[in-house]
Amino acid sequence: MRIAVDLNRCQGYAQCAFLAPEVFAMHGEEALLYHPEADQAQREKLAQAAAACPVQAILVDAVDAPAEAVSGER
Ligand code: SF4
Repeated sequence: MRIAVDLNRCQGYAQCAFLAPEVFAMHGEEALLYHPEADQAQREKLAQAAAACPVQAILVDAVDAPAEAVSGER
């Protein structure tokens, strides 16, 4: 599952780091670090983090297309 953060939008509110600390981390006051590839097990947390971001800077593949994610399972 791929994650992209629009760092031009990101204002460093750290909501994502709070909700999905395995994936997002703040580096200093404003810089955001994140893993661009996340495990499926993180999906729920990532959905929450993406929804909580005040500027909608987080894009998560499988969150917007849950049906596709399910049908893609083997
Ligand atoms: S919640 Fe959004 S604005 Fe805040 S640090 Fe994460 S990506 Fe940036």
